[in-house]
Amino acid sequence: MEAKGPNYSKIRAILNRIPKKTQAIVLVSGVLIFSAVGFGMKVQADQEAVVAQHLIETQGFEVYYNGELFAKVRNTLDIQTTIDEKAMFLEKAEGIAMIPDGEFTYEPTSFEDEDETSPVAIQQAVDSNVEFLAQATQIVVDGIALATVKSETEAQQIIDGIQAPYIAKMSEDGSEIFEVGLVETVSFETSATDPTTIQTVEKVEEFLVKGTNRNETYVVQRGDWFEKIAYDHDMTVVELKAANPEMNYNLIYAGDDVNLIVPDPFLSVATYEKATYEEGIEYGTEYTTSSSYYKDENRVVRSGKEGTKEVVANIKKVNGKAVEVEVLEETVLKEPRAKLIAQGTKEIPQLKGTGVFQYPVQVSSLSSRFGNRVHPITGRPDFHTGVDWPKSKGTPVKAADGGTVTFAGWKSGYGYVVYMDHGGGFETRYAHMSAIYVQKGEKVYKDKSIGAVGNTGNSTGSHLHFEVRKYGVAYNPYNFLDGSAYR
Ligand SMILES: [Zn+2]
Repeated sequence: MEAKGPNYSKIRAILNRIPKKTQAIVLVSGVLIFSAVGFGMKVQADQEAVVAQHLIETQGFEVYYNGELFAKVRNTLDIQTTIDEKAMFLEKAEGIAMIPDGEFTYEPTSFEDEDETSPVAIQQAVDSNVEFLAQATQIVVDGIALATVKSETEAQQIIDGIQAPYIAKMSEDGSEIFEVGLVETVSFETSATDPTTIQTVEKVEEFLVKGTNRNETYVVQRGDWFEKIAYDHDMTVVELKAANPEMNYNLIYAGDDVNLIVPDPFLSVATYEKATYEEGIEYGTEYTTSSSYYKDENRVVRSGKEGTKEVVANIKKVNGKAVEVEVLEETVLKEPRAKLIAQGTKEIPQLKGTGVFQYPVQVSSLSSRFGNRVHPITGRPDFHTGVDWPKSKGTPVKAADGGTVTFAGWKSGYGYVVYMDHGGGFETRYAHMSAIYVQKGEKVYKDKSIGAVGNTGNSTGSHLHFEVRKYGVAYNPYNFLDGSAYR
């Protein structure tokens, strides 16, 4: 509130401090002095003095509230006291400082006693025309007012509360956290507010941490499990975990509440810690050459092994999740071992048949011979169109001679199988393989790895089933594996 006309109000202020009776004496003596000095001057002076005296005696203020005439008072305190009393009454009721929503201005003027607003009328005017607002505290985050609480003390309590778990962690034994702070810039601003917009400390803290006041929970039913609840609510497991950070996901029971709101906090807590931990060291790859393999082949001759190192690092976490790692020191505890690959150097033979077959694998035993036998799976008499050589899974299967791949893929019974045409009506087949390295139509040299031994199709163990056919008729492969020309 501000009184207009500083000079006039000064006079009033001085007069206000002097008791009424003394005021009169001062005024009268002023008149007497004036009369003495002015004796012999014009009579007009006397009249002017009377008018001036009357003006002083009847001086007061027109009080305006938000520009509207509100009351006429002799003393600004007449209004102020009533306002203060009302504010105090409301403050007791609301528990927060209250101030009038609007401005009182004072125009110095003079008026007769009967025009002065009575104390009762002032009280009524205050009650019916003046709205009071709470002097609340807004929490401003990065320039945006997000919530209103009763006081700065409460606002500070919220900000402290959000950081409290991290500060508690910092003081735990062996904690590596050396600093805790908010990511966002927070300030408090006092503002005149409708008291109904003021929220409790608990509400505001939850709002700032979750990013919303929305609450959505799901009550666990019998037969639910965490992943199913996530799926049923169109959430990922990661999101559902973020919404329920305190929950033990493996131990949920019917009747438990599962929070469905993924937090998107307005306020995030950053922690800085100096941590020491072990970390793996990736292994590299080294290359060598080998005359044992053809130029289009390579082999892993030694597998790689991860190493380990001790790392000392400054880690910045936001809401408990690492966002920045500054490595300060690394000590190798175990060197990694590089993977070694041998690249073949042997000249690639001609991509056509030589006329002489070689064994597709190194044969150490025969588990089923060519011709009539009892089928190992059906138990019925059966004609075996090839030979079965037991071999460990992954052993390379070599082309018996150069030729063209006519089939490479899955066939029922055979499993993964390769057919090769060697010219002159001759065909070889390699069945039950675990991998195939060639494609239909590919021209292949003798001894090329075309696949790997396996146990696919109708097979009771890892072995190679090998066939030699001429114009579609199966012959005993051993007839052609003696090193002599087949054509
Ligand atoms: Zn067989």
